[in-house]
Amino acid sequence: MSEAAPAEPLAAIFRRLIANTGPISLMHYMGEANARYYSSRDPLGSAGDFITAPEISQMFGELIGLWLADMWINAGRETPVHYIELGPGRGTLAKDALRTARRYGLEPSVHFVEASTALKDVQLETVPGAQWHHDLSTIPAYGPVLIVANEFLDALPVRQLVKTPQGWRERMVVPEGERFICVAGQQPMDAAVPEARRDAPDGTIIETCPGAAATVYEVAGRLMEQGGAALFIDYGHDQLRDGSTLQAVRQHLKVDPFINPGEADLTAHVDFATLAPIAQSRGCRWLGTVPQGRWLRELGIETRAQALAQVAPQHAAAIHSAMDRLIGEGQMGLLFKVMGLAHPNWPGGAGFPG
Ligand code: SAH
Repeated sequence: MSEAAPAEPLAAIFRRLIANTGPISLMHYMGEANARYYSSRDPLGSAGDFITAPEISQMFGELIGLWLADMWINAGRETPVHYIELGPGRGTLAKDALRTARRYGLEPSVHFVEASTALKDVQLETVPGAQWHHDLSTIPAYGPVLIVANEFLDALPVRQLVKTPQGWRERMVVPEGERFICVAGQQPMDAAVPEARRDAPDGTIIETCPGAAATVYEVAGRLMEQGGAALFIDYGHDQLRDGSTLQAVRQHLKVDPFINPGEADLTAHVDFATLAPIAQSRGCRWLGTVPQGRWLRELGIETRAQALAQVAPQHAAAIHSAMDRLIGEGQMGLLFKVMGLAHPNWPGGAGFPG
């Protein structure tokens, strides 16, 4: 990576912007903070800020590759077929999934939707033939698409509305001393709140993620036009709920999201409850949203771990502890969910109820 001149801290840019034009929305704050964060580093792995499922074990990507191959075979092996990953990080999931898929005759073209140039360099080394896109609009328009997004939606900026004695307002960000804080905006936002929730007590916060909704809407549209299936994997909830879930992680620890924006990974829980109906509104088939642990077990992670441990007995303990991290109820197994979508003529996928 080239040595660029150190950029002005984002906190200083925000202070100037807010002094000149007034408070910025929390959504603006989070979007800019993550754009800066991801474009300036490779945040993944034990030496970075956080670790993701594909970086914990090759089994994660392998089982996703197996799932995709199974879907594609049962749908009639149509070609050309495209593997599309949103926010592929280091490319590890794609590498493991594509290696496994190839064994079943699935050899798709590979497309990455990635905003970070720092991560593109890493992805190029991991998956040499991949093509990059800024967004979904430029991916191939013909042939079924197999779309995967792991810990992508949680990085997209959320909008928060708060109930005040004057009505619903957007949460805005202003500096206070060394840090930033949230205040209620001036604009009435009642029209943006579903009627059933409008009378919530003062202080109630509703969080939405327009970027996640738009992504699922686009993905569902592609599935309907071209055929295919999609997996969205993220930590989040599948029931509607109130409150802020914004958090920041740096060097594997939770930190204050309102100090040093751009230096920590900002994420929010993915609200899967609102995403399934968005996909269905386009005619897409929602296969289900299930806990990651259950999904991986149904796909045979225990058998796979056994097989890997047999080939490399010296690593057996590490393989089993990685599996426990992925499926353990107190670890990623329950908090993380897998949402499956498919064209209505495609088969129901392994690990999903319908
Ligand atoms: N899927 C990977 C990485 C998760 S981190 C894994 O599981 O290891 C989030 C990823 O999404 C990074 O690759 C980041 O650069 C990318 N990303 C975040 N916001 C984005 C945006 N708005 N557009 C495109 N990519 C984005």
